[in-house]
Amino acid sequence: MSTAPVAKVSKKIPELQHRNFRDDEFWKKIPAWASVTRDQFGDHLWQLKNSIRKVDQVKKVLGNLVSDEIVKDIEEGQKITPMNIRITPYIFALIDWKDPINDPLRKQFLPLGSQFLPDHPYYKEDSLHEDEDSPVPMLTHRYPDKVLFLPTTLCPVYCSYCTRSRLIGGSTEAVEKESYGANQKNWDKVFDYIAKNPLIEDVVISGGDSYMLTPDQIRYIGESLLKIPHIRRIRYATKGIAIFPMKITSDEAWFQALKDVHAFGRSFGKQVVIHTHFSSPKEITKWSVLAMDKLFQEGFIVRNQAVLQTGVNDSVDEMVLLIRQLSYMNIQPYYVYLHDMVPGCEHFRTTLKEAEELEKAMRGTTAGFNTPTFVCDLPGGGGKRHVASYEYYDEENGISIWTAPYVKPGAVFAYFDPIHKLSPEAQERWKDPKVYEKMIEDAKNHVIQKLGK
Ligand code: SF4
Repeated sequence: MSTAPVAKVSKKIPELQHRNFRDDEFWKKIPAWASVTRDQFGDHLWQLKNSIRKVDQVKKVLGNLVSDEIVKDIEEGQKITPMNIRITPYIFALIDWKDPINDPLRKQFLPLGSQFLPDHPYYKEDSLHEDEDSPVPMLTHRYPDKVLFLPTTLCPVYCSYCTRSRLIGGSTEAVEKESYGANQKNWDKVFDYIAKNPLIEDVVISGGDSYMLTPDQIRYIGESLLKIPHIRRIRYATKGIAIFPMKITSDEAWFQALKDVHAFGRSFGKQVVIHTHFSSPKEITKWSVLAMDKLFQEGFIVRNQAVLQTGVNDSVDEMVLLIRQLSYMNIQPYYVYLHDMVPGCEHFRTTLKEAEELEKAMRGTTAGFNTPTFVCDLPGGGGKRHVASYEYYDEENGISIWTAPYVKPGAVFAYFDPIHKLSPEAQERWKDPKVYEKMIEDAKNHVIQKLGK
């Protein structure tokens, strides 16, 4: 039997808690920012200038609010994690520095050396095969009518759980990367490829993060894509609204560029949408509401994609609160992803069973269109599949087998639960490659026979 906990319900959320948006001057608890005014804190340039980029700054800004032990642990984390440090003051000040070990925001952006676990034997730097499915640099073309365009490798924060840690944010002590910033050299080749492939209707502009594109780049990309006759939808992907709402509320030049592209799209009858990335209700404050009100008043559709992470949002209460707050702010909770099998993330990953149970518990807590679909983005490039749509699940050994009949006909894909969440007997089996290779082969054969291949 698996020892994995399922659908943790810790407490009942008061009915209207999701309408209480934090509006205090929380940053003033940070010693270095005690005299920062609301206007300064709300200025996007102040946020950028004071972003935390190094461990030294953590100590400098927090002073006695953080113990030497935690600082040392963060330093140790930097020797292991594939991601550099970058945190906006907004998120840094929302961390509960009285209990940093358990804080969901600290966990996402400032990994501790003590929390890391060995990577799963089947982890991959490019778990989703985005590079293999790339016909031209910076573009992934997997689904017939949709492409993923990665014009930048820069982000306003660097997340410990990033699925593109192989590219994003520059080299670290642990990993050499070929990050390319916002290099425009290949963009025209991308537009050319899209123009020559008339089946493509939908472009996700991600990265990296669209927040790091200049107003001119936002316009150039948006207009170039929208002018292609068969393109019907573009989506700017940004974690920005969650971790840096001040850019929406105070960077007028950037917001104007976004509005211009939106208006340009509408004039052609085409969609310009924003996809964002809240994972914890602790990221949400009155600043988020102000940013969303501004976007909503301009007619933007905003959807959210969260990543399921242990100790961040894997309880029913946290997830229900997140979904209700997003819905209240006019953000559609679209997807919750099972964590990808990328390096340095084993401590974050949940089992497939946990994801299934969480979705079951969530369903019915709000309107169907505001209930996110829980998906597994299949390692090996099978695309996103609903968490309950596997062909076979050996829960004891944490092996699930999937197919993606339209995306990769005839192929079978495997996703693996984190080993530390399996029973002691199963953990033993995962120590011997001959044993676990046989388990995987048996699981795949079970599906191949079932499907009559
Ligand atoms: S914002 Fe997105 S692309 Fe950037 S580090 Fe976080 S998860 Fe990765």
